[in-house]
Amino acid sequence: MNLEGQTALITGSGRGIGKTIALKLAESGADIVLADMSPEVTEVRTEVETLGRKCLNFKADVTDIGTIEAMVETIIEELGSIHILVNNAGITQDNLFMRMKPEQWSKVIDVNLNGVFNVSKAVIRPMVKQRSGKIINISSVVGFSGNPGQVNYSSTKSALVGFTKSLAREVGARGVTVNAVAPGFIDTAMTQALNESQQEVILQQIPLGRMGDATDIANAVAFLASEEASYITGTILHVNGGMY
Ligand code: NDP
Repeated sequence: MNLEGQTALITGSGRGIGKTIALKLAESGADIVLADMSPEVTEVRTEVETLGRKCLNFKADVTDIGTIEAMVETIIEELGSIHILVNNAGITQDNLFMRMKPEQWSKVIDVNLNGVFNVSKAVIRPMVKQRSGKIINISSVVGFSGNPGQVNYSSTKSALVGFTKSLAREVGARGVTVNAVAPGFIDTAMTQALNESQQEVILQQIPLGRMGDATDIANAVAFLASEEASYITGTILHVNGGMY
């Protein structure tokens, strides 16, 4: 998959799946914009530049629409346009529903759903104007299967399905595709936070017998970002080892 001449903005790209997506898209030829709250992003920038790609990095909280709009303006000034947006930033704040605090509900909705609104809103006008663009949202298997302790998180991840399908219908005629990848359980800090017995239960549910690797998700994103996927929109690509 050749992404030469494309610029990709990836949120939450300082570590985990977002970082792996950024490096995969860079390997495929895209220039990269990293947006994250963490300072580690500068190390990822060095890795992207080592691959011979241009790279900008921003300390950007996806919940802050002002910062996001300013960031998108700067990217367009400096790199010309944004061809690919990967809405990857996401958090968990797990608790059984009966114990879930309103702040745990609101914070997860704010980052995982309002964050996707904010960044997509900022890029959609330029994409429609240039008559091309690819938006890829990172949903989750639990948005389809449900998961105890994750009423907040799974609600945001299934909301992204409606978001993806509706926006795809709105902007398809303007050359913009909108798709989602729904990862299963992927070996990152987010799943390392689960205790051993939780991880054991998860493994028993995966026909392919292993947790996914961030590369499994990055490969799916690279495909949806590529010319080869140009007739695919409004779809959800499940990457979960067969667990759902
Ligand atoms: P990590 O927790 O490892 O990384 C999440 C990244 O998002 C971090 O770099 C974090 O920054 C950043 N981030 C968090 N909040 C914000 C914010 N408000 N603005 C900008 N950046 C932010 O998670 P994963 O890599 O595991 O997950 C990536 C995506 O994949 C998420 O959307 C997650 O829901 C989804 N997913 C993950 C699965 C898994 O098994 N790991 C399974 C299914 C879906 P900082 O370092 O500063 O905290």
